[in-house]
Amino acid sequence: MLSEITYSNPFSEKGQWFKGNLHTHSTYSDGLLTPKQLAYLYRNNGYSFLAITDHNKVADVRKLSTEDFLVLPGIEVDTGKGVLGSKYHIVGVDIEKEIKAESAQEAIDKIVELDGVAIVAHPYWSSLTLNDLLKLEKYLGIEVFNTTCEVDVLRGYSVVHWDMLLTAGRRVYGFAVDDAHWSFRQYKPVDACKAWIMVKAEELSREAIIKSIKKGLFYSSTGPVIKNLEIKNGKVVVECSPVKVIAFVVDHARGYVYFSQKNDLTRAEYRIRGNEIYIRIECKDSEGNTAWTNPIFIK
Ligand SMILES: [Zn+2]
Ligand SMILES: [Zn+2]
Repeated sequence: MLSEITYSNPFSEKGQWFKGNLHTHSTYSDGLLTPKQLAYLYRNNGYSFLAITDHNKVADVRKLSTEDFLVLPGIEVDTGKGVLGSKYHIVGVDIEKEIKAESAQEAIDKIVELDGVAIVAHPYWSSLTLNDLLKLEKYLGIEVFNTTCEVDVLRGYSVVHWDMLLTAGRRVYGFAVDDAHWSFRQYKPVDACKAWIMVKAEELSREAIIKSIKKGLFYSSTGPVIKNLEIKNGKVVVECSPVKVIAFVVDHARGYVYFSQKNDLTRAEYRIRGNEIYIRIECKDSEGNTAWTNPIFIK
């Protein structure tokens, strides 16, 4: 007899897919481009929505949304300190007013009170430990990939933080974001339009996109497309664009990896034991670009 499975499945949900980036800096803080230029850039790169999240400031984005492109207001609150001495950065999406907070928890509480989405930004870049993250409550998820942190100091991936939190029983989602500043340094790769979430929503409106994100109806990617995920007959079956690795990542290293030298894997399955804490899927192509599903929680 299988245990209780909890998964908000965007692949079986009605609606359309919308590509978006939830972490971006503009001239309101240390970004090079104005909110309007950023909206133009992302729209022209195939995105449907973008959140402008300046450091401790809210940019005015009210006139930037069009019929086919949505700009969400937001903020990144730099506050508090982890045990290793770095500040927490808390991203608040769908936030229209500035937030002052003495601690990361206060920032999260205020974002949640304002009906926003609270995400702990770049844990690896911030040198946050598992305990730093376990101390906090009520955040929707953490950034599992951050483009700027990767191209700047090679600390873009916070997947280990995510797996530790999930293994500890925390039900948090994983977000891939750019954190684009569009700053230039010789030989530094561009930090925009490289990491995103794909959200399944009824329509491209602020209400619908935020509602779907809060429900977990999205997956993250830096390249591969996840085409379907089904849970049936005690199995998880995933289909994706051609990749080299499809991994079922499970608590306590009990997962399973499919590997092909030819970058031609498009389907894989995993039989649910029933005593897992969570199962999540990563699809990685030959260049290292990855797609991450949200976790399937099992109790
Ligand atoms: Zn930050
Ligand atoms: Zn940032």
